[in-house]
Amino acid sequence: MRTGQTHLFIPGPTNVPETVRQAMNVPMQDMRAADFGELTLGLFAGMKSVLRTTTGTVMFFPGSGTGAWEAAITNTLNPGDKVLMARHGQFSGLWVEMAQRLGLDVEVVDLPWGAGTPVKEFARRLAADRDDKIKAVFVTQNETATGVASNVAAVRRALDENFHDALLFVDGVSSVASLDFRMDEWEVDLVVTGSQKGLMLPAGLGILGISEKALEASRHATMRRAYFEFADMLKMNADGYFPYTPPTQLFHGLRRSLARIEQEGLDKVIARHHRLAEGVRRGISAWGLSLVAEHHTLYSDTVSAIRVPAEVDARDVLRIAYEDFNTSFGSGLGPLAGKVFRIGHLGDLNEAMCLTALSVAEMALYRAGVKLQLGAGVGAAQAWYAAQAAKRPMLQ
Ligand code: PLP
Repeated sequence: MRTGQTHLFIPGPTNVPETVRQAMNVPMQDMRAADFGELTLGLFAGMKSVLRTTTGTVMFFPGSGTGAWEAAITNTLNPGDKVLMARHGQFSGLWVEMAQRLGLDVEVVDLPWGAGTPVKEFARRLAADRDDKIKAVFVTQNETATGVASNVAAVRRALDENFHDALLFVDGVSSVASLDFRMDEWEVDLVVTGSQKGLMLPAGLGILGISEKALEASRHATMRRAYFEFADMLKMNADGYFPYTPPTQLFHGLRRSLARIEQEGLDKVIARHHRLAEGVRRGISAWGLSLVAEHHTLYSDTVSAIRVPAEVDARDVLRIAYEDFNTSFGSGLGPLAGKVFRIGHLGDLNEAMCLTALSVAEMALYRAGVKLQLGAGVGAAQAWYAAQAAKRPMLQ
């Protein structure tokens, strides 16, 4: 019997705010009714604001981020097209695998897990590609497995400086609505996300932002697709309808979560993620542990991947946290299994929740055999959060 709250500090699915959960508790409705657009049409506009685009098109596919990856690729590219991708973690690796499975000619830049998108190497390869053979460049803005955030704007500059016309794809699954993302300013052609991370919803929606250039490409792209056909979606979406049964409950939740983001302000949402993440990082540093991210400029504000000392198995830390303290942290994925555990700090989160995460992690690390001073991590984070709070105006 577990009492009290079970805490979730995995990097998605994230905590669903009570107001969002309640908003989804509605009867089923007719998705062909004349007034269905009253629910859905505002979602496209709200999602465009979150992606910071006025010229892009938003699509919601029943599915998850992986489905949205597939939709992005199959609608805009042709069989055998050359694409440029980096592999530096679980998700960038799976994206490469999908592109290969779908029959693209993938030029892969392999990097250590912990590295970011190799902008200089991408620039070099784009410069060498004088015949514009590379049709798309892929960036994983936030590699969730390693807690590494990459510089999308710099990849856009690399394309522009080399007068290269390739489409720019961005995986924003664990960055959209939590890290700075600017679709129009960075001229991103396809951005992909899911409902279960920064948007604070259950999984079930694969979400795309599509530029005019990518939409134009989709009119001629010949890769095989059926369920994920942009043209079918576009035609039905015009009046707020869908080509197949949409998850209406999730739309009710999304309406609420978009309203929350608007109310807090997107800039403030992003600043909050930074503030909270910095406190977590100070805690980790006080334990004497280090992050997987190779450099501080790569630190992700949505997830920290923490290396445990060689003599400790990170799986024990996860097990102790879950079994003894009702708390879930993210596991080390692929080659990081047993070496790393992750604290997800994105979505509906505040200082007190991050202190709980640090407090439990500290106890679990201690019990798993890590030599640390109990309270050290929590204290370091408290000092940071208290100092930050002192800078904010008092609530009336
Ligand atoms: N890309 C990144 C960066 C992710 O973190 C994830 C999932 O965690 C995915 C893609 C896959 O998304 P989904 O699990 O929604 O299919």
